[in-house]
Amino acid sequence: MINNRIFLILSAATLLSCGERSSTGAPTHPPDAGRAQHGIATADLNAKAAACDDFYQYANGAWIAANRIPAGKSRWSRRAIAREENKRELQAILTDVSGKKDWPTASGEQLIGDHFASCMNETSVDAAGVTPLKPLLTEIDKVRSAADVQRVIRLLHEMAVPVVFSVVGSMDNAEPTNFIANITAGGVGLADRDFYLKTDDKFVRTLQKYRLHVARIFKLSGMSDAQAEKGAADVVAFEKRLADASLDGAHAADPAATDHKMTFAQLQQLTPHIDWIGYFDAAKLPRVDLNVAEPKFLQQVDKELSATSVAVWKSYLAWRLLDSAAPFLSRPFVDESADFSEAFLKGATEKKPRAVSCLESTDELFGEPLARKYVALHFPPAAKAKAQEVARSMLAVLKEDVDKLTWMDPQTKKQALEKLATYNVQIGYPDNWPDKWKDSAVAIHRDTFWENIVAARKYTIAIGRKQIGKPTDRNLWQLTPSSPDAYLDLQLNEIVLPAGFLQPPLFDPNATDAVIYGSFGAGLAHDMTHSIDAGGADLDLLGRPKNWWTDKDRSAFQQRGQCVVDQYEGYFIEPGIHHNGKLVLSESIGDLTGVRIAYRTLEKSVVFHPVPTLDGFTPEQQFFIAWGQYRGDAMTLEGQRQLVKSDPHPTPKYRVIGPLANMPEFQHAFSCQTDAPMVRPPDRRCAVW
Ligand SMILES: [Zn+2]
Repeated sequence: MINNRIFLILSAATLLSCGERSSTGAPTHPPDAGRAQHGIATADLNAKAAACDDFYQYANGAWIAANRIPAGKSRWSRRAIAREENKRELQAILTDVSGKKDWPTASGEQLIGDHFASCMNETSVDAAGVTPLKPLLTEIDKVRSAADVQRVIRLLHEMAVPVVFSVVGSMDNAEPTNFIANITAGGVGLADRDFYLKTDDKFVRTLQKYRLHVARIFKLSGMSDAQAEKGAADVVAFEKRLADASLDGAHAADPAATDHKMTFAQLQQLTPHIDWIGYFDAAKLPRVDLNVAEPKFLQQVDKELSATSVAVWKSYLAWRLLDSAAPFLSRPFVDESADFSEAFLKGATEKKPRAVSCLESTDELFGEPLARKYVALHFPPAAKAKAQEVARSMLAVLKEDVDKLTWMDPQTKKQALEKLATYNVQIGYPDNWPDKWKDSAVAIHRDTFWENIVAARKYTIAIGRKQIGKPTDRNLWQLTPSSPDAYLDLQLNEIVLPAGFLQPPLFDPNATDAVIYGSFGAGLAHDMTHSIDAGGADLDLLGRPKNWWTDKDRSAFQQRGQCVVDQYEGYFIEPGIHHNGKLVLSESIGDLTGVRIAYRTLEKSVVFHPVPTLDGFTPEQQFFIAWGQYRGDAMTLEGQRQLVKSDPHPTPKYRVIGPLANMPEFQHAFSCQTDAPMVRPPDRRCAVW
């Protein structure tokens, strides 16, 4: 994943459970004009709850009762269930494709089928043991000097093994249309610097466990006990010094804190012991302006090159290679790796089935050919056309809404409209789908799992390096089209909605417009507001850091937002604990605006495309229930307590309720009394956009 890029993985919740999906291959929802439209998920409703008292419970009560939150999780959702279904569908494709051995060489099917088969061939993987790594381990063993160390770093980087730093392509923060080299910090085994530095029990215990884990993997690779113990102690001490010189997670993810553009000459001055000419030439990278995410960290690496013994470097390099390869080697390596990384660090209670690991490896390396098969089966052109139509409608109504604003300065309004005019919604798969593996000449065989990984990684790294120094390519997505996630890229002013995300129940192209607008439409309109809201005001039309709001706009926005702050301050999850209105302000304004824009779109559309009353629910009722089910996750009380402390989104219940309580349209749709809990009095109703 490209660092330093301002994008958010979206958590748009899923919606209906229409129960008509299959993972057997046929298009899930073939375009069929005669097919009945789908309404809301009536089975999820709690008919005993009153819609005007607690709409979250009304829309979701039966679903929550029937779908217990799995042990160890604080939240459960239709989205999480859809994610599991996505996995099953991808696995079905791979089982099917790998069953055939005569695909044309280098075709997408041959790559994914044979790679998956090589992973599933555990007998061959187990028999090989650590042998596939031997040539590289020997190379590391031959290291005698700092120059040798740097040569091995280059070799390992070519196969995506994280060693000390990474050179990746990123958008230039000051000019996001340019894609430049970005040198980031990395190459430590524990994700957070706290694990190396803090003295609390939890951190100290983790570091001890980590050292034992390194020693065990060293022993599996053939080292003596004494060598392994000494090597592990050296690795931990070395990584500790790197961690000490690195930023904490929050700062490392902050574009402002990691923005240090410099010339190639300045890079050489900053770190004189690193042979950058050797590195850039070997990687075929242009020696032009670049970014160093963490200069202090890079200086520490520079210092280690002159001050640290070759013996320590050798242990560190061998460890980085083994750590990167262990999940793909024989059973003892896989088990040791999973025991530490999955069970101990992440608390996983079950071992990952081999087929799931093999799916993940194939998806990671060959995501594009796998996604092509997925799209052919699960995302028909009619689904893409429908999602595009919804996006166009939402954008048009949002523009009308902005145009009518009275609190925004006319000049600011003009810029907001320009940003919306260029807002890019990418649906399903890229318009010009890159054919990365065409003519790749990468040889993938059914009995060389690790060698396949190295070949695919090398090719991917080489392709990625070719992008550096060129204009940013919008067709290169951060997720594959089969991914069940979506993301917002504030710099590129776009939202990317992969085919794997646009699946029922989240998005059902055969649902009524009322249902589609209430769920997907409202979620999409919410995200569009981020382009022009108080956050979007910090980036101009081309994604450059520039505030285009006036002080007057900002204070008018704040004034109107105060109503929303007060509303959420009044939402309690238990006596004494309520939402932090300021923390959830931006997301709650997004929800309120999203639902309002989607509702207005529906009102306009039903004039030409009437929505039938289905299962006894009017189009308006379908719309609001769809919203309630879209955001209606189940969450433990403990999870809610944690969430209100730090999450900018309200709890599921209040995400559902909050926007609706401000809308007279909701009150009418369910004939609520004026003093009902779901109805805010007219003088306290909030409207920002
Ligand atoms: Zn948002």
